[in-house]
Amino acid sequence: MTPTAPNPAYDPNNVFARILRGEIPCHKVYENDAALAFHDITSAAPVHVLVIPRGAYTDFHDFTRRATPEEIAKFWQAVDHVVQQENLLPAGFRLITNTGPDSGQEVPHFHVHLLGGEKLGPLLSRKS
Ligand code: AMP
Repeated sequence: MTPTAPNPAYDPNNVFARILRGEIPCHKVYENDAALAFHDITSAAPVHVLVIPRGAYTDFHDFTRRATPEEIAKFWQAVDHVVQQENLLPAGFRLITNTGPDSGQEVPHFHVHLLGGEKLGPLLSRKS
């Protein structure tokens, strides 16, 4: 499962890269050979899990362009596994991925936020 080429924009010292290397701890929820899922340190809902690929991708766009079909499939299978493990159906859940400055992306390693466990309210609260 090797991506097409290294991404020079990827920062190998971002916090999720360090979690993947075991340099800092996480509260693991699930893993497979392409993805790791763990609790967000600042929970925004009763269930707030981050799912990240093991490969070095900066964001959704980078992942979608450069990851192998097998990596992409196993990443989304991991997301689906956590949905079931956390009993988020049939009540439902929300998936969010931030990409780039307009989104407020803080960690430059592709991740999805999986949120649920209560009614989540409006998608965005716009700044005035
Ligand atoms: P984003 O703004 O989409 O890049 O979200 C990054 C998320 O990573 C935030 O919700 C943070 O609370 C979360 N986060 C940052 N550091 C850690 C960490 N060490 N363990 C778990 N979650 C983290």
